[in-house]
Amino acid sequence: MNIEFYNTLTRRKERFVPQDPSRVTMYVCGPTVYNFAHIGNARPAVVFDVLARLLRRSYRLVYARNITDVDDKINAAARERGESIGEITRRFTQAYLEDMQALGVQAPDVAPLVTEHIPDIIDMITRLIGSGHAYEADGHVLFSVASYPDYGALSGRETSELLAGARVEVATYKRDPGDFVLWKPSDTDTVGWDSPWGRGRPGWHIECSSMIERHLGETIDIHGGGQDLIFPHHENEIAQGTCAHGGRTYCRYWLHNGFLNVDAEKMSKSLGNVLLLRDLLNEAPGEVIRLALLSARYREPLDWNDALLADSRRKLDRLYGALRGLPVADHPVDPPEAVLAALYDDLNTPRALAELFALVRELNTSDDQARRASLAGALRAGADLLGIAQQDPEAWFAGVQGDSGLTEQDIEARLQARAQARSARDFAEADRIRDELAALGITIEDGADGTRWRRAG
Ligand code: AMP
Ligand code: ZN
Repeated sequence: MNIEFYNTLTRRKERFVPQDPSRVTMYVCGPTVYNFAHIGNARPAVVFDVLARLLRRSYRLVYARNITDVDDKINAAARERGESIGEITRRFTQAYLEDMQALGVQAPDVAPLVTEHIPDIIDMITRLIGSGHAYEADGHVLFSVASYPDYGALSGRETSELLAGARVEVATYKRDPGDFVLWKPSDTDTVGWDSPWGRGRPGWHIECSSMIERHLGETIDIHGGGQDLIFPHHENEIAQGTCAHGGRTYCRYWLHNGFLNVDAEKMSKSLGNVLLLRDLLNEAPGEVIRLALLSARYREPLDWNDALLADSRRKLDRLYGALRGLPVADHPVDPPEAVLAALYDDLNTPRALAELFALVRELNTSDDQARRASLAGALRAGADLLGIAQQDPEAWFAGVQGDSGLTEQDIEARLQARAQARSARDFAEADRIRDELAALGITIEDGADGTRWRRAG
């Protein structure tokens, strides 16, 4: 079976062939640590965690996800809060790692910090100046986009179009308005490092290129991140990286996750709909949030809403319900072919989930204990690739009961009693059951296709 990815650079699905099958390299842009991560930030972390799990089955993977701890947003947050930059970045890095752990995201092999790579950054900028791809102006060092004819290939924009966009900062010291900052001066109140161009700090794009060069090499196999990073961040990474390496390919496969919206709206501070992972983790187990994040294909937009969370909880109830009472295999079990095939197809997680539920149905309808145990092993192995359903089912149901005191079976039994009361026209009893469930945080909705229930949160 071949792994296929949609490559943003070529705009088509391509078979994944690593440059060196004994060492596959992957880099994903990590968080800028100046506040708590929101649910959108969790999407790339979870999606590329699934990809890392998949690749590790076949290859020795070196996966790097950085921590951006030098950024003007961090400086602004430190000023606003009256704290030091180090206090801010340490606290929010810690919080990010805790949140990721709660989502079952495995630690990457390398988690570089920008602050530990300043000499690498200065070195790369020096080389770019030396080869005529960058120039010093007014205390800044800028990358000259005119020096790289392929600029715009990733985002598919013409240079003139790029420049017409309002997103490029116009400054008198630039030779060309599209030129971007590699190094900028810091005043005495701003964090900075000594450099050949005076005391200053790096621009955002050069940080990732330098950490990639240091930890993964000149050409990497896979680079990931959210679609918002295609331009300018990744476009600029390619320009710098390619020019610093004598024109060699910077990255072979570019994978970008789609955006997560909340109740069909873009998450934004001004709309007041930014959902912090911290808060969501108080409402639902990390595993529920993880499954919800994997319910859509990674390249598609994902709409986050209460129904999605309730549905994911129910799905986990079903998965754990099927595994209940069945032994955990004492030997490694291969994931089902159909689950692998779905993930090999550009990480089709909804299809992989559907295949898991096909196994659940088979398991629930079989009364052959040996067959059930073998199906349970396959189910666990397949779910492991997605990073779900790995705990003891009893622990899951004990945790779920902690919220409402009711398991899925308890709820279904009460719904049946209510349906019976209704068909006997005992509406007082039917209402009593509904109110009792509501008091336990279970909302029920009668629809054309029967009664559905969901837990609050
Ligand atoms: P930042 O800390 O803003 O640099 O973002 C970290 C990662 O989260 C990047 O890969 C972004 O593309 C991604 N990201 C930010 N917001 C969203 C969102 N609403 N949906 C999906 N990914 C997002
Ligand atoms: Zn980056």
